[in-house]
Amino acid sequence: MTHTIVNPADEEFVTVVEGADVEQTDAAIAAAAVAQRDWVAAAPADRARALRRFAEAVDGAVEELAAIEVRNSGHPIGQARWEAGHVRDVLDYYSAAPERLFGRQIPVAGGLDVTFQEPLGVVGVITPWNFPMTIASWGFAPALAAGNAVVLKPAEWTPLTSLRLAELALESGLPEGLFQVIPGKGSVVGERFVTNETVRKVVFTGSTEVGQRIMAGCAAQVKRVTLELGGKSANIVFADADLERAAATAPYGVFENAGQDCCARSRILVERSVYERFMELLEPAVQGVKVGDPRDEGTEMGPLVAAAHRDRVREFVPDDGDVAFRGSAPDGPGFWFPPTVLTPARDARTATEEIFGPVVSVFPFDDEADAVAFANAGRFGLSGSIWTRDIGRGIRVARGVESGNLSVNSHSSVRYSTPFGGFKQSGLGRELGPDAPAAFTETKNVFIAVD
Ligand code: NAD
Repeated sequence: MTHTIVNPADEEFVTVVEGADVEQTDAAIAAAAVAQRDWVAAAPADRARALRRFAEAVDGAVEELAAIEVRNSGHPIGQARWEAGHVRDVLDYYSAAPERLFGRQIPVAGGLDVTFQEPLGVVGVITPWNFPMTIASWGFAPALAAGNAVVLKPAEWTPLTSLRLAELALESGLPEGLFQVIPGKGSVVGERFVTNETVRKVVFTGSTEVGQRIMAGCAAQVKRVTLELGGKSANIVFADADLERAAATAPYGVFENAGQDCCARSRILVERSVYERFMELLEPAVQGVKVGDPRDEGTEMGPLVAAAHRDRVREFVPDDGDVAFRGSAPDGPGFWFPPTVLTPARDARTATEEIFGPVVSVFPFDDEADAVAFANAGRFGLSGSIWTRDIGRGIRVARGVESGNLSVNSHSSVRYSTPFGGFKQSGLGRELGPDAPAAFTETKNVFIAVD
């Protein structure tokens, strides 16, 4: 089973990647289990040093990894460089964990009671195609730091940076078998992570539908899961906000990575009294987004990842019915789609489903209660933004919106040092932040009698 990779910006052939079958997947998992036993037996300081060396190897390869992502995924070079640097930073951050994975000492009668954070063993990480290397690192870095081995299945469309990261791990001195990247189909390699009993946890990022299936499959073995799934996040703009800034930044809250972002603020909710003014400001901001060749340093938005995905996004906007205005996109080869602003009804398909492309819908709202109720409508709850100069309202609304990651007067979602994940059907569990390594351990309680 092979997968042909084409450059989404020009449709040129890049390479062919051989997908693993079930036997190869099982062999990799068995090798990971062997490597994990030696890894956990190594001194914490040695494991920490090994992860720091891996981080250094990634640091030395930032330009190379970025160039691979530009060709494989069509990410603008500036963004791809940030992504490679983020992988280094995530590894650096969790390299402190092996020496800080503390248990507790609990006061009890008749002895000493202590807890240990024991590694799970082999962890399976399944990643999507939208942010291939960053999302991979959110799984493998804390899992390795907590003493586990990792097998990682990248998405079929975008395996190249993950494959290179596995090579860098070996080159940096990480033991053979400890971190393996196994390209292949979700229904073969990914499914095997779920059914193979040696894999003790599955970390899945992708669509809610596949996530539900993985959770159901893991239930058969009471296997641990972390799920990072879809989103339809709200960007709520109150009348008292800095409207110029809110409008100037709104396109970047949704069109980053061509809208192929689970945190995309794909619904903009604007207080009715400033709706017209906001739209006047939003139009030039959207038309100012620089869409073009991802290799150009000034490019802000590249193509969609694949022809099939471009066609799916197109289906959401079959005609100009709800289109308020659009930005630009290159003609010719490549899977281009212009930034598009819609003004649909609140119950329209474009208003409720995750499009995962550069399409945003704008809606007026009446008051704070209406804004919070509409932001909370639907099955997702991943991120969101609130624009207001009223600090009390900013806090109230942030507490009222049922999402895992909110920002007031900004669109930030992801920092490696803060937890990330979704409410409702946007996910289960949290990644990143100080507690991530603990999610790759079991707590063991040991009582030692003193009498
Ligand atoms: P997808 O669910 O189609 O695929 C994700 C991964 O799962 C791929 O590697 C795929 O091969 C694998 N897979 C498919 N079927 C499988 C099966 N039966 N068993 C095991 N693995 C299987 O998602 P996608 O289209 O690659 O990614 C887009 C989705 O990911 C969007 O819904 C987006 O919101 C979501 N996403 C969420 C986050 C988050 O952190 N919450 C981040 C990025 C993307």
